[in-house]
Amino acid sequence: MLTLIFVCCREILIMIDKNDWRLQGQEKYLKGVTLYLKKYIKISDAWDHDHCEFCWTKFSLEGSPDDLDEGYATKDNYHWICKRCFDDFKDIFQWKIT
Ligand SMILES: [Zn+2]
Repeated sequence: MLTLIFVCCREILIMIDKNDWRLQGQEKYLKGVTLYLKKYIKISDAWDHDHCEFCWTKFSLEGSPDDLDEGYATKDNYHWICKRCFDDFKDIFQWKIT
């Protein structure tokens, strides 16, 4: 009986999350990947910033107060996720942290 209640609440939670405006099909390339908490690093000289994959908050090294200089990234530093979106979506995306 307790298990049934848990599954039921869990499904409601996932339904709400799937309607979140930040979710735009990222599960195709971010589901189950390993993420690394690190300082923002630019991946090329031609590109000085990135955006959170979910909420589009900017990552940069410029030191602007609105920009983030730390977050969760894939091993190749190609995809960046801010801490808030990481906390909100870590259960759905089943990320591994190293
Ligand atoms: Zn975000």
